[in-house]
Amino acid sequence: MSPKLSGGCACGAVRYSASSEVEFAFHCHCRKCQRATGGGHSSAFAVQRNEVRLAGEIRQYEQTIENGTVTCSSFCPTCGSPLFSSTARFPERLYIHAATLDDPSRFEPKFVVFEEAAQPWDQVNPELLTAGR
Ligand SMILES: [Zn+2]
Ligand SMILES: [Zn+2]
Repeated sequence: MSPKLSGGCACGAVRYSASSEVEFAFHCHCRKCQRATGGGHSSAFAVQRNEVRLAGEIRQYEQTIENGTVTCSSFCPTCGSPLFSSTARFPERLYIHAATLDDPSRFEPKFVVFEEAAQPWDQVNPELLTAGR
């Protein structure tokens, strides 16, 4: 059995732990993730929302992306670190940003999504491109 997943924001005001296993882990190259993270893509893993315990105040930002999906991004109001997001389509899931983990090396991405939106300076891992399809 793997130890609990735990992590938090840059300033430490928000902490989380998840008792469930990771359902899947991925990189998302969509424009929303680029803007939300300030990087070329987001790296996130999915867990069941009801398995996540959260401590500290978060703020949330709701947005409808190009394909009509309503997404909700959660971040720390003090340091602004992106923590996790969710979509209206799968409300039972949280997509937690990988680098918020206390041990980010536990993150094992298995596929990429929205690779067509990837920036020329952010290489899409070719091994993950065909995985999970
Ligand atoms: Zn913070
Ligand atoms: Zn995205």
